[in-house]
Amino acid sequence: MIIRNVRILGGEPVDLRIADGVIAEIGPGLEGPESVDGGGAIALPGLVDLHTHLREPGREDAETVQTGTQSAARGGYTAVHAMANTSPVADTAGVVEQVWRLGREFGHCDVHPVGAVTVGLEGRQLAELGAMADSAARVRVFSDDGKCVDDAVLMRRALEYVKAFDGVVAQHAQEPRLTSGAQMNEGVVSGRLGLTGWPAVAEEAVIARDCLLAAHVGSRLHVCHVSTAGSVEILRWAKSKGWNITAEVTPHHLLLTDDLVEESPVGAYNPIYKVNPPLRTRADVEALRAALADGTIDVVATDHAPHPVEDKETEWSAAAMGMVGLETALSVVQEAMVETGLLDWAGVAQRMSVVPARIGRLTGQGQPLQVGAPANITLYDPSVRTKVDPSAFASKSRNTPYEGMTLPGRVVATFLRGRPTVLEGKLV
Ligand SMILES: [Zn+2]
Repeated sequence: MIIRNVRILGGEPVDLRIADGVIAEIGPGLEGPESVDGGGAIALPGLVDLHTHLREPGREDAETVQTGTQSAARGGYTAVHAMANTSPVADTAGVVEQVWRLGREFGHCDVHPVGAVTVGLEGRQLAELGAMADSAARVRVFSDDGKCVDDAVLMRRALEYVKAFDGVVAQHAQEPRLTSGAQMNEGVVSGRLGLTGWPAVAEEAVIARDCLLAAHVGSRLHVCHVSTAGSVEILRWAKSKGWNITAEVTPHHLLLTDDLVEESPVGAYNPIYKVNPPLRTRADVEALRAALADGTIDVVATDHAPHPVEDKETEWSAAAMGMVGLETALSVVQEAMVETGLLDWAGVAQRMSVVPARIGRLTGQGQPLQVGAPANITLYDPSVRTKVDPSAFASKSRNTPYEGMTLPGRVVATFLRGRPTVLEGKLV
């Protein structure tokens, strides 16, 4: 098959010949019996998400492996890491293999299960990390995401344990006692609204401790959804020491602020903006953007967190935390990072494909688009601007904070090992 007229990382137009799931030839004027017109779209290596909640098993009313990976494909993703906070929790070889098999059977992209760090995410006893690593799912990323591994001894043991198979512990940094009952970012707005605050220090203190622990035992640490300017400073310091630490930021933390809880196009106290960690201040957003640009933060990860309507459309304090994000991630990154001149398309490819694949130790994903590479390809048209319409999402859930907002860009096509999963913006 020939993919005609695409611009790799925004460069000059070329054609790609795909054979046996691999890029076989790159050049102008390629011809073949079957062809797809790229229309001058930007070609990126298929996106890789380090942080997706697929909700299966247990909350199939919110999302399934099938709908979640359809959502991923529409967002330009060819691989996702499925978080462990399912029901049952993915804390055994049996459960991670179940998710992995669902991915093989129903996935519109590759599904790599994340293993829980502790049994039942309860923070009391290490889960069977080695058995998950040795299972068919070959787990390399371990996280209690949704909860913090707040016990320093358990965190140390987990960091030591995963070294044996080159794994990484991905920490949801949230000191639990400092955030008991927290409803939004602790600051001027929470004070005015009288909502219990989630202080920046509750994230920063855990990140600082974990960086020190990771350095002490010589292990790999990944920090999930960094949300504050102070966290950026700590990461910059830890990285300056040469420690093996990586970090992610979500699209929503690159664009949205806590003012939206007080005043927004959809009214005050709208739980669509309720998320963990919470939306922070403009100064935090600016620091996160600068950190993603200079490499202090390594990757963008969606924290795609689908919830059914009844869990979100309720009073603020009772609403579930989280936002869907797979189908808007690239557009939000274009808006926050490319339109502002902070990143070019090569930089986006690094942060949304190459480096996340490396952190997850994935082979066959996140490889530059060159001859011999697997044909995992995202075609993206950055020139259009469209209003976000959640009813068009492939995700089973609709809890997007961008409804009605005009965002740039559109995923035109996604190819998984040469097979189209999305063409002309629609699922194949
Ligand atoms: Zn989390």
